[in-house]
Amino acid sequence: MVIGLTGANGSGKTTLANYLRDKGFYYHSLSDEIRADLEANGVAPTRENLIEKGNDLRRRFGPGVLAARTVQRIQNDRNYVVDSIRHPKEIETLRGLPRFFLLHVDAPIELRYRRAVERGDPRTPKSFEEFSALEQRERGGGGAAGQDLDACAALADATVSNDGPVEPFLARAEQVILPWMRDEPRPGWDEYFMRIARIVALRSNCIKRKVAAVIVQDRRIISTGYNGTPRGITNCNEGGCPRCNALAASGTRLDECLCSHGEENAIVQAAYHGISIKGSTLYTTFSPCLQCTKMIVNGGIADVVYNAAYPMGDTALRVLKEAGIRYQQIELS
Ligand SMILES: [Zn+2]
Ligand SMILES: [Zn+2]
Repeated sequence: MVIGLTGANGSGKTTLANYLRDKGFYYHSLSDEIRADLEANGVAPTRENLIEKGNDLRRRFGPGVLAARTVQRIQNDRNYVVDSIRHPKEIETLRGLPRFFLLHVDAPIELRYRRAVERGDPRTPKSFEEFSALEQRERGGGGAAGQDLDACAALADATVSNDGPVEPFLARAEQVILPWMRDEPRPGWDEYFMRIARIVALRSNCIKRKVAAVIVQDRRIISTGYNGTPRGITNCNEGGCPRCNALAASGTRLDECLCSHGEENAIVQAAYHGISIKGSTLYTTFSPCLQCTKMIVNGGIADVVYNAAYPMGDTALRVLKEAGIRYQQIELS
């Protein structure tokens, strides 16, 4: 999950970002990209230089450039807080992530100026008037490639007010963020096992097609198999299967094929380890061929879940039906 923070200078974004960091969130600031660029060119990272360089990068590479660079660093199994979001195009880019929420931190300008002064940041303008003028440029005066904090605030999923002491502010923010964290969708069991089957397929050594199956009993994987040449035989991708390596047309020279199928290998793997597959569910990345279907039937498998439909699968599906085996196709995104 990614929580983006937007808000004017001194609103408390950094306080909230640090709080979330302490809670295990990974931190990225879009302005780090600008800072890195300035440093590379030997320019001091003053507030004005940051604004100018940020606008320059947006003009040259599009207004979503900083967000696009940050998106490259996001992994979907982690929680992130992304600070310094200042343009609607950045939000649009970040919304391309599967789980992105934008939080707007709001506080009155007088309070924000006082906080900035108290923080002792040397980049803070010397007077309230200067602070206010600089902010006007950030609020929407920077043109299409410039900053537009007001438009960003309007796109927020929630606004948290920070007009008082810090603890109640953080507590309010937490009340907004916690439901987002709890609401993280999980894959259902079918999708879970099918995705695992897809990973298993990556181990296939067959050069023609990569297929795999996992056999599941009581929501536990008891066997896996991927297609390829039998144990002790040169791998298909090392030239072991003459048919695959001759790139034989579909359905031809099948009697020469040395590659076992994924379902076949999952069933045989269970036999190898002396595990009964009676009453189990087989998840396969392709609908089973006739040969594998016969093994599924006689192995006592009760359910077959497949992802893609194999072109030669109609007879096999008919056999499954007649044998009383439940089967269904599930689509994966
Ligand atoms: Zn092969
Ligand atoms: Zn097969």
